[in-house]
Parts: sequence; structure tokens; C-alpha cells
Amino acid sequence: MADHDLLIIGAGISGLSMAHYAVQAGLNALVLERDNRAGGCLHSHRFASALDGFWLELGAHSCFNSYGNLLAILEATRALDRLQTRAKAGFRLFADGAVRTIFSQLHIPELLLAPFRLIGSKKAGRSVADYFGRIVGPRNYAAVFEPAFDAVICQPAGPFPADCLFRPRQRRQDAPRGFTFFNGLQTVADILAAQPGIHIELGRVAREIRRAGEEFVVRTDERDYSARHLCLATPVEVAAPLLRAEFPALADRLADIRTATVETVGVALPKSRLNLPPLAGLIGRNEAFYSAVSRDTVPDPAYRGFTFHFRPDSLDEEKKIARIADVLGVPRAALAAGNVIAKVNRLPALRVGHGDLIRAVDNLLAGNGLALTGNYFAGVAIEDCVTRSLAEFARLRNEGL
Ligand SMILES: Cc1cc2nc3c(=O)[nH]c(=O)nc-3n(C[C@H](O)[C@H](O)[C@H](O)COP(=O)(O)OP(=O)(O)OC[C@H]3O[C@@H](n4cnc5c(N)ncnc54)[C@H](O)[C@@H]3O)c2cc1C
Repeated sequence: MADHDLLIIGAGISGLSMAHYAVQAGLNALVLERDNRAGGCLHSHRFASALDGFWLELGAHSCFNSYGNLLAILEATRALDRLQTRAKAGFRLFADGAVRTIFSQLHIPELLLAPFRLIGSKKAGRSVADYFGRIVGPRNYAAVFEPAFDAVICQPAGPFPADCLFRPRQRRQDAPRGFTFFNGLQTVADILAAQPGIHIELGRVAREIRRAGEEFVVRTDERDYSARHLCLATPVEVAAPLLRAEFPALADRLADIRTATVETVGVALPKSRLNLPPLAGLIGRNEAFYSAVSRDTVPDPAYRGFTFHFRPDSLDEEKKIARIADVLGVPRAALAAGNVIAKVNRLPALRVGHGDLIRAVDNLLAGNGLALTGNYFAGVAIEDCVTRSLAEFARLRNEGL
């Protein structure tokens, strides 16, 4: 007899939303998480005592009122009152060694033609560079839009499928347009993980998946877990090898999805040390970093924080800190162990034709009692993950979960 109705591997937003749907349906679900923290890319780092608990985001930073499935979960968990409107602050470009307004970098005559170029243009089957480059014009694309899109998905956006970048979704008028949560987006993960009926075991690395008759058996270093249904909510580069032994055709398809590495460094400083105006963030053009996301959208009385997302292998650790000090206009010595934190993030690097690949994956999944969720289906946004979990949960229910 299996231990659980549903075993979920990975406690990022994909796994946590899947667990939410399972618990709401009265099922017995268990989540196994490799780290000693739930949240994955929802990761608000809290600095130790010298910085009075000041936090900044090492991963995702913004949610929007178009995130309808996420908002529905937050409503069901009575968490909407902890939602925090993001303060208004704009993005600027950091280009040629200086902070510049986006408007100052636009080529306006070229942009005036954009509404006409939009008529009849379709995103399907086209890359970001091809689709948006034609609409905004080559000068605007190179000077503003390409660096901005790179910053949005923390990787070179040019070859990314245009229809996976900004997905049109209905906006909820009763929620702020852009929001985070009290103490950052980690709070979303903490709320979902604390729901009655959700069981999460932290520090459990899924090493192997086997089928034993009608059941799945997942091996970890500590013990084996069994369940009638299994959901993999890990990054794609983890899902592919885990599926290799029992689902080789599925593993082959997933292995075709590449991933991009982001080297993230967050720094916190007393407000008095910085002369930069309030910012949502800086977009790097021809820079070692894609973006520097600011905490100014959730202002703190004493500190400011910036999370730099660096291109992989562009600078070593010391050079990254020196570059951050330069960009922020502070002495190198102002950035020390106590106010600097680093993390490596990975995100799927989707390519044109991704829709066909996912259709093939879904065909291979059907009828196996196995679900796949994550940020490598419709797109990388938090809402894309929750939407995938909802669809996969519905499919598993149809398959007898
Ligand atoms: C720097 C950055 C900024 C972003 N900004 C935004 C934003 O502002 N808005 C937005 O909507 N989206 C943003 N995103 C995208 C979004 O945050 C992610 O796509 C999403 O959170 C991914 O969730 P996930 O659960 O699919 O994967 P993850 O968050 O990666 O979670 C997967 C989990 O699986 C666990 N795991 C891995 N292997 C194993 C194993 N063998 N056994 C057990 N557990 C395992 C991991 O530890 C992890 O907790 C950003 C992403 C990054 C990296």
C-alpha cells in the first residue's frame, strides 16, 4: 500500500501550488524538498542583526494583478491582507558607465512607426529578437529593448520565443497592478508551506524514481517514499535525469530544454551612503550584469538594497563586488561579508518551437499517473508555474488521483 496519494518533488512555487490543490481536494500529499527552505526561486534573504533584519530578493521580486491563479490561491489561504503594493519607482538604464533614463535612449522617429508595424504581426513561431526587433526598429531594440528583455528573463532574450515572454492575461481590478508581500515573496512560499494538511520534508534530495507495480518509489539518502501518483516540480535539468530510467522518451525531450545560469549578488547599504535616486532597478546595457533590482519598491527607513544579476562567467567574485561598488558609487570597502550575499540561479532558456516540444511531452505523460510542473512550460513567470500546476492537477484527477 502506497504511503501517499501524491508525492511532489520540489517545494518551489510549482510544487507548493500543486500541494495546495491536492490538500484542497482532501488528498494526502507529501512534498520532498532538497534545500532546508521552501520557495526555490522565491527567496527573500534576511541579513543578520547588524542590518536589523533588512531583506532583499535573490530571485523573483514582482507579482502582478494578471496573476489570477496565484491570487486565487492567496485568497483561498486568506493571505491577501499580507500583500504589499510596490511603491512607484522607475527602471533606468546603466549604459556607457552612467545611469540614464530610458526615454533619453529611445530613437523616437523609429518608434513612431511601431503601432503600424504591430498591425497583423503574430508572435507564434518567432523569436523575441525577430518579433520585437521589427516592431520597435533596430536602433531602439539594440539600445533599450534588448537589454530590457535580457533583464526581464535574466538571460540573452533574443532567441527566446516571443509568445513565451509576455503572455496576455486578464487583470484583477481588486488587486494592485504590481505587488510583493510583507517581508518579500518568500512569504508566499511560507504561507503555502504552512497550510493545514501540507506536509513538506526539507533536506530530502530525490535521487532516483522507480515504478513498482501501480506505485512510484522515490529514493532519497534517508529512505524510500512511495505514492500512487507522482509530480516532479523540480528545475528541468533535474527532472530529465530523474526520469531517465523509467521514462527515457520523456527524459530525451526534457534534455532538449536548455538552461541559463544567473550569478546573483545582493548588497544592502545604509541610505546615507547612496546618491542614486529611488529606482525599481537598473538595466545593464553592454554590461556584465543584466539588471540590478532595487528594494526601493518596498522602501525601508534605514537601508537600501540592490540585487545584481550577472551574466555567467563574466566576472570573478571580487570583480563583481568592485563593479557593484562602482555602479552604486560607493567605496569597495563599503561592501563586506555582512552586507553581501551571493546565489546561483538557473532558468530555462526556451527556444522557438518550444510549444511543439511541450505537446510531445504532454502526449508522453498522458495516462501514467505522473505530472510535470515548473517554469519550462508556457513561460518562466510565477503565474506560468501555478497555471501549469492547476492543469496538471486536473489531469491527474481525471486519471484517478
Ligand atoms: C533572478 C530571478 C528573478 C525572477 N523574477 C521574477 C519576477 O519578478 N516575477 C515572476 O513572475 N517570475 C520571476 N522569476 C521566475 C520565477 O521566480 C521562477 O520561474 C519560479 O519561481 C520557478 O518556480 P519552480 O517551483 O518551478 O522552480 P524552483 O523555484 O526552481 O523550485 C524547484 C525546487 O525543487 C527543488 N529541487 C531540485 N532538485 C531536487 C531534488 N532532486 N529533490 C528534491 N527537491 C529538489 C529545489 O531546491 C527548488 O526548491 C525570476 C526568476 C529568477 C531566477
